Amino acid sequence: MQNIISKLPEVSTTIFTVMSKMANEYNAINLSQGFPNFETNPELIDLVTHAMKKGYNQYAPMPGLLSLREIIAEKTNTLYESNYHPDTEVTVTAGATQAIFTIISAFINPGDEVIIFKPAYDSYEPSIELFGGTIVPIQLSAPGFTVDWQEVASKITSKTKMMIINTPHNPSGTILSKEDMLQLQKLLTNTDIILLSDEVYEHIVFDDQEHQSIARFPGLIERSFITASFGKTFHTTGWKMGYCIAPKELMREFRKVHQFNVFCTSHPMQHALSEFLKTPDNYLSLPNLFQQKRDLFLSLIKDSKFIYTPAAGTYFQLLNYTRITNENDITFAEKLTKEHKIASIPVSVFNLNQQDDKVLRFCFAKTDDTLKRAAEVLCKI
Ligand code: PMP
Ligand code: GLN
Repeated sequence: MQNIISKLPEVSTTIFTVMSKMANEYNAINLSQGFPNFETNPELIDLVTHAMKKGYNQYAPMPGLLSLREIIAEKTNTLYESNYHPDTEVTVTAGATQAIFTIISAFINPGDEVIIFKPAYDSYEPSIELFGGTIVPIQLSAPGFTVDWQEVASKITSKTKMMIINTPHNPSGTILSKEDMLQLQKLLTNTDIILLSDEVYEHIVFDDQEHQSIARFPGLIERSFITASFGKTFHTTGWKMGYCIAPKELMREFRKVHQFNVFCTSHPMQHALSEFLKTPDNYLSLPNLFQQKRDLFLSLIKDSKFIYTPAAGTYFQLLNYTRITNENDITFAEKLTKEHKIASIPVSVFNLNQQDDKVLRFCFAKTDDTLKRAAEVLCKI
């Protein structure tokens, strides 16, 4: 067919697919796309098998299994002292990606402005563009990636419909502080701006710091969606299971789209997850697990030429390579993969105008053996 008019003319294949493919092609250690190379808890697998054998193989309820929504609400309310109702304010989704897309599609009309912070996770912008929204980017800078709330205030107009934040932040590994959230709360008071808070790494925060969820701030809750991912929390990225929570007036609009978007998500997995969540240690143990991995990785590369600030959250570590080369990050990431057999993610692809800060993102959600092999390579560069 001729004359196909693309709705996303500037969009090419996502960097995660590009780098993982290159890693496989060149037999490189894959620290690019963010997924663990170790198994989930066998108990969780058994729970899924059991649910399938018990016959939970037909459609689940549209918003998600009530028992799963109940335990999600209980977990959120316990951790953040908030009060979400399982019936009307929690929806189970096909990963956080679907939740994000559905939120944007339910609210963004042509001409609406959406404020995002760069570097930004790569699904936000195409989703906004598809619905005719205008992206209003705010570039954060390495190594601190701190937000200047005065600058944010200057970007708000009568057309601002939504703001998207992400803490802990992919790809920088930084987190927003309580002070940041209070500033944000002040800024949005008396506006009709919807806040999308992408909190897929909520359980991966290090050095005894606390995750500052939107759910801790009553002045933000009323206007916010929070998105979460069981893939990130339970080492099951391939299951594509997640959820979102929001006050009922917002969630009502979300579900109008969700029911025609996926209708519901995997039924046996929802049974398994609702059981598995009954043991809080299954998610509260994450900081310990990943902090050990971060510290192992960083101790092994401490004598290398790379420069870094330890990640405060997520399972990503940025490494600055200015002591090695002046090449741009895409060229250097390709060279690392092809010649040194170690794959990473060049951060410029998430930046405004591809700003190149000469940093690469490495995923440390890997076995200790993989991290040791990777560090050996990095130390020789
Ligand atoms: N947001 C961020 C910041 C992410 O890193 C990811 C990748 N896990 C997602 C959303 C999507 O999560 P999911 O795999 O559950 O769709
Ligand atoms: N969130 C993952 C990352 O940042 C990848 C998700 C994906 O491949 N779409 O690496």
